[in-house]
Amino acid sequence: MKHKLIQSLRPSFERLKQRLANRWPWQLRVLLYHGLYDDTCSCTPTTADPSVFQPVSKLRSELMALKAQGYTFISPEETLSVMGKRGKYALLTFDDGYANNLLALPTLRELQVPAVFFVCSWHIENQKAFWWDVVFRELIARNVSTYDIRRRLQEMKKLPWHILLAELDREFGIEASMPVSLAGRPMSVNELATFAADPLVTIGNHTQHHAILPLLDEEGVRQELQTCQNSIASMCGYRPSLLAYPNGSVNGAVAGVSRSLGFLAAFTTVAKPVLSLKLGKPCDSHLIPRLQPQ
Ligand SMILES: [Zn+2]
Repeated sequence: MKHKLIQSLRPSFERLKQRLANRWPWQLRVLLYHGLYDDTCSCTPTTADPSVFQPVSKLRSELMALKAQGYTFISPEETLSVMGKRGKYALLTFDDGYANNLLALPTLRELQVPAVFFVCSWHIENQKAFWWDVVFRELIARNVSTYDIRRRLQEMKKLPWHILLAELDREFGIEASMPVSLAGRPMSVNELATFAADPLVTIGNHTQHHAILPLLDEEGVRQELQTCQNSIASMCGYRPSLLAYPNGSVNGAVAGVSRSLGFLAAFTTVAKPVLSLKLGKPCDSHLIPRLQPQ
């Protein structure tokens, strides 16, 4: 009985919490997007996870709504300085390095919103599709249900990257990892270099192979991060100062390596805004939460 009452009150409590959070006068809201698609053409991508692709119009509405609510969009280098400062701040981020992220540029320019794009260097240099898109495409073609595909994806997330990629090649063939459309294609080296030169664009590190870092030993973590740094430096002309952990997966050892390599800040996928209470540090600089569009 008591349990049922708590259950029934939960949605109202969550709404109240959300309303209070929106009005909180010391806050940073970090937004997390992945792929984009142009919803003015009939090219909606299909995927097992609808949060992976969002229409450009949704991005534009969210940015406009936050501006209307009094949020100031900050540049990435301001991330740490606005935490604990009075005001409502927002930072826009994108993960993975999809070529369709270039579709964001007209909106960023129109609304003057800077953004960080966290990319996986191996995918860009080798033009390999992301494993979750390959699994979805190949299993849908084999008439596997979306429910079973989601379960399979959850299982595969537990594998270290080299085992996962080997399993992908073995099961679907090497050719299956070639991207088939803009929905699943990583940026090319030239696209990344041109994109990175835009004053509203900052490139961040998302590891070399989209590696789930806590599955690797310390040397493996260091290698994933450093190789990605070196590749981005040669493609874009600078070494990123920000990191986003793939799948938001992090533990103390991984955050320690990230600190030792000199990253200014690192982001998870824990879905909440950074709220300051005036006293103490609002959030660890290497465990910054991010909110995904609903
Ligand atoms: Zn990712």
